[in-house]
Amino acid sequence: MRRLKIVYSSTISERLAHLGSLAKAIGITAEYVSVVHPSSLARIVEEMDRDTHIVLDAASLSDVCKEDDLYRSVAILRTRRLTVLLLTTTAGKGASQFLEILTDGALQGIDPVRESTNVSFPDTICKATGELASYSYPRRPGGALVLAVRIGMGVETLMTLDGAPAFVRVLVGGATVFVWSTVRIFDVDRPLTAEREFEEALDEYIPAIIFLRLAFGRQCWHNPSNGAGMVIDDPLLRNNYGFISFRQLLESSRQHGYHVTLAFIPWNYWRGHASDAKMFLNYSDCFSVCAHGCDHTNREFRSTDYESLLNKNFIAHQRMERLRQRTGLANEPLMVCPQEQYSLEAMRAFADSRQFIGLVCTACMPRNLTYPQLRGADLLLPAQDSFFGFPVFKRHYWRDMSVFAMALFLGKPAILVEHHEFFRKGPAGVDTFVSALSKLRPDIKWTSLVETVTRTHLRRQVSEGKYELRFFTDRFKLERESVAPAEYRFIRRIPADTQVSHVTVNGWDTPFIREDGLLSFEIRTNQPQTIHVELEVPPVRPTAMPSPGIKYEVLVALRRGLSEFRDNVIARNRFALRASRLLARALKQTGS
Ligand SMILES: [Zn+2]
Repeated sequence: MRRLKIVYSSTISERLAHLGSLAKAIGITAEYVSVVHPSSLARIVEEMDRDTHIVLDAASLSDVCKEDDLYRSVAILRTRRLTVLLLTTTAGKGASQFLEILTDGALQGIDPVRESTNVSFPDTICKATGELASYSYPRRPGGALVLAVRIGMGVETLMTLDGAPAFVRVLVGGATVFVWSTVRIFDVDRPLTAEREFEEALDEYIPAIIFLRLAFGRQCWHNPSNGAGMVIDDPLLRNNYGFISFRQLLESSRQHGYHVTLAFIPWNYWRGHASDAKMFLNYSDCFSVCAHGCDHTNREFRSTDYESLLNKNFIAHQRMERLRQRTGLANEPLMVCPQEQYSLEAMRAFADSRQFIGLVCTACMPRNLTYPQLRGADLLLPAQDSFFGFPVFKRHYWRDMSVFAMALFLGKPAILVEHHEFFRKGPAGVDTFVSALSKLRPDIKWTSLVETVTRTHLRRQVSEGKYELRFFTDRFKLERESVAPAEYRFIRRIPADTQVSHVTVNGWDTPFIREDGLLSFEIRTNQPQTIHVELEVPPVRPTAMPSPGIKYEVLVALRRGLSEFRDNVIARNRFALRASRLLARALKQTGS
């Protein structure tokens, strides 16, 4: 198995410590090696075996290494098939000379930039940046370091900041040398106050991930089979809702091989015509429903009343079950929160009630956190499961493909969310999305959303024939195609105070251990098979189920009626737009 060594001089800087934490989050444990003597870098490089890849810290090594030691080091590099990351976090003369010598003159130096706001991943022949190639992202405005590249020296630019190279790759003899200039390395263990802190700092961690994946391959945590999903919020089970003609949409979905999940408001379970339900049932190969709130009042799951939220979980689940009995439609045990908002108490209620196996939302953080709690390392996972072990699968509105490219790059499912307005021109928008997604990942799997999330996992090889596998839902499915014997250690985040009564694998009780907030168990297999895992967690039930009162019921009904009038009449009639403003005000007042 391959090893990572981070070579530095003097002390392990904060940036190098962050790089070590980032590598650990990707599945690679780094060893730090200090260069003490001015001419010992060449000796350290000489002693590296073919399974060791190295990071050289230009900032500290350039202070201690003599010029002849650097020339000796690059002469050794040329003869090796090592993967090297030259990391520079300063723009001094010493660091520039360090890069110039160790890249055989391909780089001339490092330039500080006062402000940079855009990160781009150019489309390269080698596709080293995977799904990110050709996409750009906003960056938190601020200073940066960029690289001065010598033209005609075979430098492949992998990432630019405002058009200037900041992460490149160059071949030095047999060695593949990556060079990354950055002011900071993201601390993936630092608690965050907003997801944006992570999203707008992508240039501080993506280059490290690219280097580690190319150097360590399957030893890095990776999702071997990305899935996709599409959710439409709010509609009733009627052939036509707002701008959506479901018959037309589902015909297109069957033709293009994608799946539509309708986020259905459980309060509506008793409504709808038998003939419409039959139409949906005819498309059950590409259509299903999941829960969208319970009553869908304004900011329903933003409430902090834990007992009432727990109660709503059971009511929403019962109503969806009644819908299934009435219509025969498959009911996905997933929750979509109204207005994308939920509180920390709502997360606790989701996890305690065990009525749903995951949340699908544009936001990975509860809205009422009083102090930073979520770490960047949690956001690198396919599902964010740091609150009570309850997974949140991130979904995105359509703007362009960049957010979906990033999701796939990080091993997350690509989940599109839309409302009826998206279908003004019929299913053309979804068709465009589906074909763009298949260009990004030709092997993308379209299944129902619940199928996608219950297959989502991370895997890494820990030794010959041994793998670790991190999954996120109480119900999990692994399709194993290989015939080679293998040992798997399955891991799922479950808080220490959550009772787990049984773990079954293909129906058989399996012993498991609990350690550091993780539940794990091991299995061996030597045949292609589907492995079904179930965790049995007794639900916490509400102490009382108080009736919400007639006034509340009337307001819920009024809100539903007004929302549907807005979607079916006002949105489709431009002369009624003025009335919509009055309606918006009325909806706000009924949102208690
Ligand atoms: Zn909604």
